Amino acid sequence: MNIILSTYMCGKARSVEVSAIRLGLAVVVGLLMLSAVAVYTGTRLVDNELGHLGDWRSLLTHQQAEIAAIRHDAETELDALTLRIGKMQAQMLRLNALGERLVRQADLDRSEFNFDTVPAVGGPGEMLNAQSVRMPDFLDMLDQLDSELEGRQDMLSVLEVLLMNRNVHERAMPSGKPIAEGWLSSRYGKRSDPFTGKQVFHKGLDFAGRKGADVLAVGDGVVSWSGKRSGYGNLIEINHGNGYVTRYGHNQHHLVEVGDTVKKGQQVAMMGSTGRSTGPHVHFEVLHNGKRVNPAKYIGK
Ligand SMILES: [Zn+2]
Repeated sequence: MNIILSTYMCGKARSVEVSAIRLGLAVVVGLLMLSAVAVYTGTRLVDNELGHLGDWRSLLTHQQAEIAAIRHDAETELDALTLRIGKMQAQMLRLNALGERLVRQADLDRSEFNFDTVPAVGGPGEMLNAQSVRMPDFLDMLDQLDSELEGRQDMLSVLEVLLMNRNVHERAMPSGKPIAEGWLSSRYGKRSDPFTGKQVFHKGLDFAGRKGADVLAVGDGVVSWSGKRSGYGNLIEINHGNGYVTRYGHNQHHLVEVGDTVKKGQQVAMMGSTGRSTGPHVHFEVLHNGKRVNPAKYIGK
């Protein structure tokens, strides 16, 4: 088959004879070119999408890596914190033991001071063996430990006050003799005055001994007088609190000054015979709320 194509070129009409085969070839080539363009364009579109997806994927991978790193850090820190909590729990167990011992020693009401309760999260060893603790568990542990510590603190501070008061009270209370060696030479009460022979009231106890012997504080306290006083010679006065004061008269030499704190049994002076005295002795007085009382009931304690 021959197809005559008439064209109008350069002002001349030409006719070209084209064979069917050539035409078919041209059509095929044209179609191929068209589809190549289509494929190219389509591929570019798909390529774009794929590119976006790739970006997304790498972003996700990156974020996953970051999350993993954060989780790892958090777990490491959590483990470290858990370890510290374990140590704190161990310390609390030791505190409990101490508290129990104090309560037992002080003979206090044990029902008021209950140090028996064991931390609810098991022992520290159990925690150390655990792999990793989850955050909610960890926070629970913290809360638990916090409230237990608070409870212990309250109990211990009450205990401390109780023991301190008792201790201070006991140690400051006048008790025992003001001498280590010597003897009771004059009692509290009416007696004839060694100088005038008249009946007078002796408001203390006299302990005789050798000159220079130890004169001892009969309780914890603060020195409120250290010097001469009429009738007493060299006098030391100690304030023990709770309304109690003790006096030690006729000393040869003083070892403490006003304002010094002294302990029960501490040497405060050397025995002498200063003031109205016939020989080396300690004139010992106990005052309660400003009144001189019979020291006999204190020296025996
Ligand atoms: Zn006396």
